[in-house]
Amino acid sequence: MASPKKVSIIGGGIQGLCIAYYLKKEGLEVSIFEPKTAETGASYVNAGYLTPSHIIPLAAPGMISKGLKWMLNSSSPFYVKPRIDRAFLKWSWRFYKSSTLQKVTAAIPVIKEINLLSEQCFKEILLSGDLGDFQLDHHGLLMLFKTKAAGETENEVAKKAANLGLQVSYPNLEELNSLQPQLSKDILGGILYDCDSHTTPTEIMPKLKKRLQDSGVKFITEKVCRFEQNKNELTAIVTNKNKYLTEEVVIAAGAWSGQLAKQLHIDLSLEAGKGYRIDVHRETGIKIPAILMEAKVAVTPMKGFTRFAGTMELSGINTTIRKERVNAIVKAAEAYYPGLKITAAEKEAAASGMRPVSPDGLPYIGRPKAIKNLCFATGHAMMGWSLGPATGKLISEIILNKKPSMDLTPFDPNRKF
Ligand SMILES: Cc1cc2nc3c(=O)[nH]c(=O)nc-3n(C[C@H](O)[C@H](O)[C@H](O)COP(=O)(O)OP(=O)(O)OC[C@H]3O[C@@H](n4cnc5c(N)ncnc54)[C@H](O)[C@@H]3O)c2cc1C
Repeated sequence: MASPKKVSIIGGGIQGLCIAYYLKKEGLEVSIFEPKTAETGASYVNAGYLTPSHIIPLAAPGMISKGLKWMLNSSSPFYVKPRIDRAFLKWSWRFYKSSTLQKVTAAIPVIKEINLLSEQCFKEILLSGDLGDFQLDHHGLLMLFKTKAAGETENEVAKKAANLGLQVSYPNLEELNSLQPQLSKDILGGILYDCDSHTTPTEIMPKLKKRLQDSGVKFITEKVCRFEQNKNELTAIVTNKNKYLTEEVVIAAGAWSGQLAKQLHIDLSLEAGKGYRIDVHRETGIKIPAILMEAKVAVTPMKGFTRFAGTMELSGINTTIRKERVNAIVKAAEAYYPGLKITAAEKEAAASGMRPVSPDGLPYIGRPKAIKNLCFATGHAMMGWSLGPATGKLISEIILNKKPSMDLTPFDPNRKF
């Protein structure tokens, strides 16, 4: 039997861990390089939604004008910090070129397919018992709105989702209030995406990590600084402390992946989309996950607490907590759930994470042309939690030369924008 391939995964977020999970199942020798030991970053602070309903990519018609309007307001749901930076300007141009009806229409079925694949993987992981029990609740996702405009926008999305066969329903106000009691009286309506599920990332991440450690995956708490290369093949990974020989490399370093690609002279267009979460560890009465449409705040009843998460801030790679953005989440949450009062201590404990955002809203899953033993697994933006298991499965299929579970063309890291 051929000796197992040595695979080095850079990044211990949800992508890195899921890739290791599927590769280890196939008997490969796997190492994860992750300098962080604390449970922080996007894969810990996210809203935990599994979202077949998020069929519209961020780069969609209308986003540019919204972005320009919101640029002047640092507490708006989507905030772009104006910067003169070559990579950012290039990304912005590509985002603009991707925001066409034609491109969005082409992306919608692809986003649906990979989301459904990933949901199936989450279910299989739960059923396998590999992680023991974990929250995978299927109560749907409510899109709540207070303005007619927000309701009309979501109605259009819901029609598209229903046409694709996703389960969507339209509760009236009475039904809404029985689904989620104590909602604000000025809510105009809501749309329920019955197709969505939710989880608790801070439950799954440690369980997955422990499972990997128990099955022999090596965790190397060092930062990858550079690579050694022989022609079109990577031969070693050099960290801040050591050098490691390798046969395969996967870059799953979230918002930092673009910087690592640049070292290899590969143009992987990515921007960090910062978001925040506030956790409330007491009874809130919130039973159904919801998105508060006007503020784009996500509300999730997680295992033992309620999470309020949101905002998309394109301000480069940084984890700075901007108080005005935390306050905007609090304001929206308290306005939709009048019985809720988020305390100063809860606001103080807010945390941030960076989504790796590609210009067209589709992830990069695949090999770059220039290097034959490298894969990218990043760029998942707002769907990175949902898509972790599918990405893990697809990357393992690429490395093992198996037929991929779905067509990988839309995720090609060599694609032109
Ligand atoms: C507020 C918020 C809410 C969200 N809600 C949802 C949701 O409900 N559903 C959903 O599907 N998605 C959601 N997302 C998006 C999702 O969380 C991210 O897309 C996903 O976590 C990205 O995972 P990742 O593994 O690619 O990156 P990360 O989790 O960022 O992990 C990358 C890791 O790489 C490491 N790294 C970086 N550079 C190096 C290096 N040089 N050497 C070694 N390691 C390195 C970093 O330390 C980091 O831990 C949300 C995100 C945010 C911020």
